[in-house]
Parts: sequence; C-alpha cells; structure tokens
Amino acid sequence: MEGLYLKKLNSSLDKTEKKVKEIIEKYNLIERKDKIVVALSGGKDSTSILYILKKLGYNVEGLMIDLHLGTWSDKHRENMQRLCKELKIKFHISDLKKEFGHGICFIKQVVKEKKNLTGCSVCGVIKRWILNKEAKKLGADKIVTGHNLDDECQTVLMNFLKGNIYLGINSTPATGARSKEFSQRIKPLFFVPENEIRKYAKKMKFDILYDRCPCAIGTYRVETRAWLSKLNDKNKLNIVENFQRIIPKLREQKQFGEIKHCKICGEASRGDVCNACSMFMCVRNP
Ligand code: AMP
Ligand code: ZN
Repeated sequence: MEGLYLKKLNSSLDKTEKKVKEIIEKYNLIERKDKIVVALSGGKDSTSILYILKKLGYNVEGLMIDLHLGTWSDKHRENMQRLCKELKIKFHISDLKKEFGHGICFIKQVVKEKKNLTGCSVCGVIKRWILNKEAKKLGADKIVTGHNLDDECQTVLMNFLKGNIYLGINSTPATGARSKEFSQRIKPLFFVPENEIRKYAKKMKFDILYDRCPCAIGTYRVETRAWLSKLNDKNKLNIVENFQRIIPKLREQKQFGEIKHCKICGEASRGDVCNACSMFMCVRNP
C-alpha cells in the first residue's frame, strides 16, 4: 500500500471530487493562498475531505483532538497519523486531557449533572473551542470540518423540533467572518450526501474505522438521524437548500448581541463567559 494514495493524487477527478470542487468555487470557500487546517476525527468524512483538498492542490494540514475515548481514539489517531505521513501532510494533535485534565466522557458526565446539558452539543462546544484556539496557533486561514448533507439536514430538523429555527442561522457552508479572532470554519461536504462519501471512502480503500462515535448513543441527534433515514438524498438536499434560502431573511429579523470576549479564556463570546469555559468551570469545581 506504500505510496498508493500519493500516486492517486495525480489521477483525474471523479464525480465526488468534482462536486466538492464545484461547492468550493460556488461558495468561495477557499483561496489559493489560504492555509487550511482540516479537523480530523478519523472518520470517513474528514478523511475524505482531507484527501480531496490535497488532491485539489490546497495547502492543507491535519488537526485531531484526542478526546480519550479509549482504543477508539487510539485507533483513529494512528490511522490519521499514517495517512498524513503518506500524503506528506503535517499532522497536529491536541490532547484534551493535557489541556483540561479529563477525557470527553468525564466532562460530559459532569456537565450533564451540573448543567443539565447532554448529548452531542457538549462535545460540539468543546471541539469548536479547541479547534478555533489551535487553528489560530497554527496560523490557519480556514478550519475545514467534514460535516455532510445528512449532518446539515439533521441540524435543520433538530432546530425546528426544538422550536427555534434561529439556532440554524450560522449553518452555512462557510460560517463566521474571517478575522483575527476566528479562523473561518468551512464545510466543503455541505451538499454531499453521507452515502456518497461512504462510497467514496470505500472506493479509495482508506484504512479507517466506520463505526459511529461510542459516546453518541441515545442522543437527540441519533434519534433525528434514524428518523431521517426514511428520506432519500434528494429530499434531504431539498430540506437543506430550502433552509439556506430563508437564512438571509432570518438574519434580518434577528438582533445580534455585540461580540464580547470571554473573561476567562479571552476568546470571542456572546456572554461574559463563553460556553466552553462555563463547562470547564463546572468540571474544575465539582
Ligand atoms: P461529529 O461532530 O463527530 O459529527 O464531527 C463533525 C466534524 O467535526 C468531523 O467531520 C471533523 O471534521 C470534526 N471532528 C470531530 N471529531 C473531531 C476530533 N476528535 N478532532 C478533530 N476534529 C474532529
Ligand atoms: Zn472562554
């Protein structure tokens, strides 16, 4: 297998790779001079987008947060280390335990007890905070995540069922403004169905795990995913595209509070203390 992926980088673009290229161009997601950091979970989505961006000739590096989910995390880390080495991509790792003294399961448990916050939202807040901080350290212009069409469709539906569609006003292929404070987050797989990415990853024979996150059991997102599995890809695309069309209207109606700085970590925040720090505080002072 040695050198296999490196050689394939020179082959012509397949259907999925062309689709990603078109999304990047249509939404102006990346400029040639940009330094791109791909947030790597080790799953099929982030692995595929790392590979496609490298193939499209962008300046990419990989960044993984070690969440300390036992052998699951170890295996994902080894897989990404190996792939990045073969593709001659710099690989960075941020260790949650070194940073906060605990793995994600412990943090989730304490936050659940203290703040009554559960599921993937805790993980999401913590990952976003670490990715933004690390990407700034690395001087990244953009952080890429592997969110796909199915993830976005779930988000639209979950926000609707929570009775608050305004929660989705930042769910776009490029989120947040580009500034010194934030590396912009971009999602080049935004309109690519999960099934298509799975097929792509299998065709490429990436040496990765396809199991779902062991922490995401019985969460709201998992239930929404199960419900949406009845829909075909065209239905999912309609839901996501229709929501994209109403976002400008929602933004006009919504009053945004000023952006402050978290008094603990200094990161941009809507409140005096950002969501991540308020979670870490309750972990540190149980
Ligand atoms: P998830 O929230 O697990 O569905 O992941 C969504 C995206 O977040 C993935 O496609 C990755 O780009 C990123 N991501 C998830 N877990 C990690 C991780 N441990 N380290 C870095 N990025 C991650
Ligand atoms: Zn903070």
